[in-house]
Amino acid sequence: MSASVISAAPPLRHDWQQAELLALFELPFPELLHRAASVHRQHFDPAEVQVSTLLSVKTGGCPEDCAYCPQAQRYHTGVDAQKLMSTEAVLEKAKQAKAAGASRFCMGAAWRSPKDRDIPKVAAMIREVKALGLETCATLGMLSGGQADALKAAGLDYYNHNLDTAPDFYGEIIHTREYQDRMDTLEHVRDAGMKTCCGGIVGMGESRAQRAGLLLALANLPAHPDSVPINRLVQVEGTPLHGTAELDPFEFVRTIAIARITMPHSMVRLSAGRESMSDELQALCFAAGANSIFYGEKLLTTGNPDTERDLALFARLGLRPMAVEVRSGTVHADIVETAVCEQVA
Ligand code: SF4
Repeated sequence: MSASVISAAPPLRHDWQQAELLALFELPFPELLHRAASVHRQHFDPAEVQVSTLLSVKTGGCPEDCAYCPQAQRYHTGVDAQKLMSTEAVLEKAKQAKAAGASRFCMGAAWRSPKDRDIPKVAAMIREVKALGLETCATLGMLSGGQADALKAAGLDYYNHNLDTAPDFYGEIIHTREYQDRMDTLEHVRDAGMKTCCGGIVGMGESRAQRAGLLLALANLPAHPDSVPINRLVQVEGTPLHGTAELDPFEFVRTIAIARITMPHSMVRLSAGRESMSDELQALCFAAGANSIFYGEKLLTTGNPDTERDLALFARLGLRPMAVEVRSGTVHADIVETAVCEQVA
């Protein structure tokens, strides 16, 4: 890496234009990777990868119709619906996660949105998990302002809520809510003072312009999400998107690279779909600026590579789990983040 690459970082932008993103997509692949890797080095140690694991506190039976999701009750995918776990059971999992080195624990539920009567139950989980000394994260669907405030008051640090896809493709994927609903929840989360985890899914049959549109919507949010999960569609039999043409792997890497360039301070996370990626493709994603993965546990209802395979890949690539994140004057530990989100909610 030449010294000229390590230069003063430009200010964060929230005024990206579609044409700019499309021009990035059109760059020769090596040039795009070079630009993304250069941005990555301005803000992160490229040898460090944040490592996360998953837990679902309420699975399946969701009334929404997200065309990619096996947890929608209207699709016949073989997912067994499970009620909200007890606080005691969640606490037990949180203790296990902490014992395994976790510093953050995320509670996820397959809801369109929580009912107000659910909030005290989730708030109790958050308080108990927080009392263990863990950071807390949740993904529960759409929130009202009052619900976001209540979760923040209970000690919630992060909230996951994905934009899923570009505004002009959203109606092809989901019919039970509007794009603006997502934006409203993100606003409530920000207004409540919580950090956001927000990304989307590619490989759902969208065009390149629509992939650019998703990144444009994310990068032009009033605040870049702290974490940006980029999911590659996991095709689950029984969902409407089963049988969709596979996305070219290089196009996936391009999407990662442009997420890195446009949201330089964010953790760009390889999420759902990683199980089916070769080691070589994952290595290209890390080279393009991905610096967070899900690890170990099942990724909700889809599989995830074995922990051993991940550790072996890290060793082969000279990567290491991110122990402490130091950025923009803030410090927080991210040894292992236990989260449930990504290709849901
Ligand atoms: S993605 Fe979330 S909101 Fe959509 S069907 Fe699945 S669980 Fe429900």
